[in-house]
Amino acid sequence: MIEGKTIAKKIKEEAIEILRNKNAFVAIVSVGNNESATSYTHALTQNFESASVDYAVYTLEEHITQKDFDYLIETLENTDYITAIFLHRPLPKHLKEPSLRKDLDNPPCTATAVIEILKAQNIEMQSKNCLIIGRSEIVGKPLSRLLLDENATVTIAHSYTKNLQNFTKKADIIIVAVGKANFITGEAISENAVVIDVGINYVDGKLTGDCDFQSVITKTPYVTPVPGGVGPVTSAVVLANLVEMTSPKKTTQ
Ligand code: NAD
Repeated sequence: MIEGKTIAKKIKEEAIEILRNKNAFVAIVSVGNNESATSYTHALTQNFESASVDYAVYTLEEHITQKDFDYLIETLENTDYITAIFLHRPLPKHLKEPSLRKDLDNPPCTATAVIEILKAQNIEMQSKNCLIIGRSEIVGKPLSRLLLDENATVTIAHSYTKNLQNFTKKADIIIVAVGKANFITGEAISENAVVIDVGINYVDGKLTGDCDFQSVITKTPYVTPVPGGVGPVTSAVVLANLVEMTSPKKTTQ
C-alpha cells in the first residue's frame, strides 16, 4: 500500500521550514456546503497553522449571484495582504470560473500530488501505459499534461468510454478520478498495476475512494488508500505552491 501520509510529511516539512520565515495570508473560498470541501478546508487550515500562515475561510451561500461572487473575488484579489486564494472547485454550474491572479491551485494541486506520489515511490512513468479515468478540468485534464511531460503514454477514459476493462487491463498505471465508490475492482486490473485513487466518496458517512480497496490490494500492493493517500499529499502540495507565491518576511529595524 502506498502511504500518502509519509509522502505528504516530507513535502510539508520542506514547505513549513520556508513559510515560517515568510509573510503569507490565504483566503479559502467555497460555495455551498459539502462534506468533501469542509474536510479539505480542515486539512488545509491545519497545515497553514503548522506553517504560521494566516488564513480566512469564506463559505458562500450555494445560490450566490455571479455579481456578488465576482465582487468578493475582486476584493480578495485587490487586498494587498492576501497572498493567495484557494477556491474550492468545481463551482456550482451557475457560476463562471474566475481567472484568478492569486490562484493557489494553479498548477492544480491534485494533479501535481499524483505525480509527487509516483516520484516518491520511484515508479517509472516514461513509456508506461497510464490510464486516467475522469476528464475533469481540475484532475484528469491537467494530469494528462503532467504525465505527458514525464514521457508516459496517456489514455483518458470518461463516461462515454466503452469497454473500460480493455483499457484498465492493459494499463501499467491507473489514476481513478470518477467519484463512484467501488468503481475499480481487483478483477479489472492487471497484476502489480499501480493504482492511484483520487476519488472522494462518503458512503453511510464514511470516507472511501473510487476503488474496492480490499479486492484491488489482492492484485497489487501499489495502491493508494482513501483516506491517507492522495488527499494528504494534495494538501501538502498546496503548501508547496504557497512557497512559490510568497515574499520574504519584512524585518523591522
Ligand atoms: P468530476 O466529478 O467533474 O467528473 C467525473 C469524471 O468521471 C468525468 O470526467 C466523467 O467523464 C468520468 N466518469 C463518470 N462515469 C464514468 C464511467 N462510468 N467510466 C469512465 N469515466 C467516468 O471529476 P473530479 O472533479 O475530477 O472528481 C472526481 C473525484 O475525485 C471525486 O470523487 C472528487 O471528490 C475527487 N477529487 C479528489 C481530490 C483530492 O485531492 N483527493 C481533488 C479533486 C477531486
